[in-house]
Amino acid sequence: MSDCLFCKIIEGSIPSNKVFEDELVFAFKDIHPKAPTHVLVIPKLHLATLDDAQDPTLIATLMQRVSHIANVVLGLEAGYRVVINVREGGGQEVFHLHVHILGGKKLPF
Ligand code: AMP
Ligand code: ZN
Repeated sequence: MSDCLFCKIIEGSIPSNKVFEDELVFAFKDIHPKAPTHVLVIPKLHLATLDDAQDPTLIATLMQRVSHIANVVLGLEAGYRVVINVREGGGQEVFHLHVHILGGKKLPF
């Protein structure tokens, strides 16, 4: 999508701190980190929200990549939190589906 911030990050026309990329997903550091480690994992396919992700294979693969990135790429062996904000009521600000990975300290809930 031409005016989507995260699509522009995937294509490289807006810079990011990339931590991982493969054929399905792109992962980069959040610009306003809410934990010592705060990374966003996004599908390369533009889907506005989780509610638009109706392909079970895509969702399963996305979450498998999240686990791989957290453990292998980011080294969050102590554990981490995964957050998906969904639409305005859920606090979503960027309308390209993204999974937050938060870690690096004990997180209150
Ligand atoms: P959400 O509120 O779930 O839509 O989260 C959007 C996230 O995107 C926020 O945590 C922002 O800090 C982050 N963000 C916005 N613009 C950028 C950017 N250019 N690079 C990296 N992270 C960004
Ligand atoms: Zn997009």
